[in-house]
Order: sequence, then structure tokens, then C-alpha cells
Amino acid sequence: MANEESTYNPAAEAAGQGKDPKRSRLFAVCAAVGAGIVLFVLANLLFPLPSLKQMYLSKRNAVLMEKIEYLNQKTLLQAERLGELEMRDNKVYRPIFGMDEIPTAVRNAGYTSAARYSLLQDFDNAGFLTETVRRQDIIEKKATLQSKSFDDIEKISTHLEDMAHSIPTLFPVCPAGVSITSPFGYRLHPIFQSVFFHSGTDIAGQKGTPIYAAADGVVTDVKYSDNGYGNEVDINHGFGYSTRYAHLHAANVVKGQKVSRGDQIATMGSSGRATGVHLHYEVLYKSQQVNPRNFFDSKIDPKLYMTQVRSADKLKQ
Ligand SMILES: [Zn+2]
Repeated sequence: MANEESTYNPAAEAAGQGKDPKRSRLFAVCAAVGAGIVLFVLANLLFPLPSLKQMYLSKRNAVLMEKIEYLNQKTLLQAERLGELEMRDNKVYRPIFGMDEIPTAVRNAGYTSAARYSLLQDFDNAGFLTETVRRQDIIEKKATLQSKSFDDIEKISTHLEDMAHSIPTLFPVCPAGVSITSPFGYRLHPIFQSVFFHSGTDIAGQKGTPIYAAADGVVTDVKYSDNGYGNEVDINHGFGYSTRYAHLHAANVVKGQKVSRGDQIATMGSSGRATGVHLHYEVLYKSQQVNPRNFFDSKIDPKLYMTQVRSADKLKQ
């Protein structure tokens, strides 16, 4: 009978073995406790449990990693938004004010010194940490550059009115009785009979037709040019713009003279290498010839044109 065998009977045990039941019980308890301790020590040796401090640090480490991951995600969002600003800056804001784009290589230049990140190499997850800090460094540099670009734009925009006066927008002769005979670009040269790049716009008219300054500026040259331009007047308008007037009959200005848009500066002629009476008119931006047609309105009503020229005269008086 299993139940009878497992039932503890101190009287029978004392009678059968002649031992003190209390001492036996105490011995059994001590043996059980001792065995428990031995098992605990053995288990700890074979399968060591983390200490409380280790558990705390491990949990803290996990929380920190979560925070760094969150920071990483925020950094990516910031980089995306900064990228949109940079794109607008390069493609919209800077071109409006005639400023060059900031090259991508300049914008993306981070810190190249390896020593900057060497301290992070001692940490767990060193690669992850280094990448996070490096991304933030790049954003910081890009943001500083962007801020400087906006400062530059602001400085230029405060001179917007001056700039508006400096852009060569006035057709250099009254449209009545003149015609554009050769546009800017490649053409067959009328004298050499070969394809040449024509760096300006030719406007044909009567000898002595008044020629007007296309914008405010300072006369930088009045000369006879041996390169075929004959009598020539050059005006620097500032903000990167200048204009050249060639094959003139005569100049009405001197070098160093300040002129306003609409001031008469010369008369039309055929000096230099010219097949007939005409003005060879160039617009230069940052010393490069550009198409003058992008600036002037040659279809303007002649009466309105003369009003603009006379109002320039009045302003000078
Ligand atoms: Zn020409």
C-alpha cells in the first residue's frame, strides 16, 4: 500500500531503529537545506545569473539604444527637410539674384578627420554610434552653410532696387526705323563667308541714330577697337552686368562717366569691320556674352520708348 508506506510514523521508526525522532527530523532538514545550497551554487556556476547591477545596466542600455534609434530617425527627417531647402536655394532663390549654385560636393562635405570619431570606438555598437554622430555633423555643417547662403541672399535683396537699375533692359536704340539684322548665336559671317559665333545683336538703322545706355552704370572704355569693332563704348552696370556698343559713328561719353538708363552715349555708324551702318550690341554677364534678346523688348512702342528715354534725361536735370 503506497499510502501506508509513505506515511511517516515516528513511533514505529523510534521502536524499529532506536533513534531520537527530533534529532532525525533536524538532520533531515539540515540535509535538505545543505543539498539546496549545493544545488544553488552548482547551478550558479554552470548557469550564472546576471547580478542586479548587470540587469539594471542591461535594461538601461536597451533604453539608450532605443533613444539613439529615435534620434537616428529624426536625423533622417531633418536631412530630408534640409535637402528640400537646399534644392530651393540652388534652383530658385540664388538664380533670382544672379548667384551661382552651391555645388553638391561643397554642401555635403562633412568632417573628414578620423580622430573626431575615435573616442566612440570604445563603446558597444561603435559603428552605429559613429554613423549617428557623423550624420548629425553633416546636418550641422549643411545647416550652417545654408544659413550663410540665406544671409548672402538677404544682403543682395536689400540692394534689389540698385540691381533693377543695373540690368540692361532698355533696347539701345529707338525701335522706329531700325531692324535686327543679325541675332546672337552661330551664323554665316557676311564678310568671311564661314560659320562664326556672333556674340551680340546687330541692329541696322540710319547713320547718326542715337544710341542709349541700356542701364545705369559707369563707362569703362571709349576707344577705337582694332579687332573689327571700330568705335566702341563699354559700360559696367554692376551686379556682374556690362554692355558693349560697337561700329559707332561717334561716342558722346568719356571713360569714367556715370550714365543712367536712357542716356544717349553714342550715334550709329559703320566703323571697323562692318558691311553697313549698324550697332553691334553685346550684353555680358560675369564677362561672358549672353543673348541680349533675353533682356530687351524691341517691340516696344516707339512713343513709349522715347518717354522712357526723356524721363531718364529729366531725372538727370
Ligand atoms: Zn555684330
